[in-house]
Amino acid sequence: MSFRLFDAPLREPSQFVGFAGNTIDRQSENRADDSVEKALADPSTRLLLMHGGRLYLKPASDGFDPWFGAEESLPLQASLDRGVLLGFSESGPVLAVPTGVEPEQLPETIKAIDYRSVYMQGLIDEAAAGALAQGAALLAWHASHRFCSKCGTESEMRAGGYKRLCPACGTEHFPRTDPVAIMLTATPEKCLLGRGRHFAPGMYSALAGFIEPGETIEAAVRRETLEEAGIRLGRVVYHASQPWPFPYSLMIGCFGEPLNDNIQADLNELEDCRWFYRDEVRSMLAKGHPGNLFTPPKGAIAYNLIRAWADSA
Ligand SMILES: [Zn+2]
Repeated sequence: MSFRLFDAPLREPSQFVGFAGNTIDRQSENRADDSVEKALADPSTRLLLMHGGRLYLKPASDGFDPWFGAEESLPLQASLDRGVLLGFSESGPVLAVPTGVEPEQLPETIKAIDYRSVYMQGLIDEAAAGALAQGAALLAWHASHRFCSKCGTESEMRAGGYKRLCPACGTEHFPRTDPVAIMLTATPEKCLLGRGRHFAPGMYSALAGFIEPGETIEAAVRRETLEEAGIRLGRVVYHASQPWPFPYSLMIGCFGEPLNDNIQADLNELEDCRWFYRDEVRSMLAKGHPGNLFTPPKGAIAYNLIRAWADSA
């Protein structure tokens, strides 16, 4: 009898997606209320500086350097008391810190680039992009959860930024991660791709939607595919996941097996949705499609789902 529970590739599919290269040792069991203070007293501490959905970058010999020292961050109005401790790298503690300087007022040597461009253009290495996803999600959560949702009092950051505590009613609040299902419906011959109304002209992608309270991942994949495309699914299998800091989601990528062929697209959600055969998909992945259709870029979990299917036979 073979043991199939761990019958998976040695390199996990999730390791191929953008924002997945985080190498920080979080040491979550050691987080204390003075963690940030202690880290800031350590001269080896490095900071990621963020403002309004943008990451600050310094020029470096081979591109950009996202890491700042605590001293170096002060002229950029870094709010060190609002920093969160991401954990520890080989060189020391790592924090994400919100800053006050608007992009247009920055010194000329420092750029403020939006997270999506940082990731799409590969401006920083995979480990730094992973740290960015962690820091961006945490800072966004703090920015939108300042007040206790039970009694309305302003709450206080605790545990290095992994908790907020209400001083009035004592309720503890923890950072959110919002799960999103993204699914490629496919047979051996064809797969289902759609176009959202906000997509770049020519781009087609896997369908996606938020997982709702009380729903399994598989149920969400089936519901979204039926709602958006009118396709009922049989088997659903998990493939890979991706941290997605817009603002704090986790993309959960699955394959679904269609039970019917006739698409009924929800045109409120999608501009178009249709079946694509393997050769056409391969030309889209290779950016050689005769009608200039293409998939999301390498690094996107949708790309990885589509690529895994296109390479699967
Ligand atoms: Zn409260």
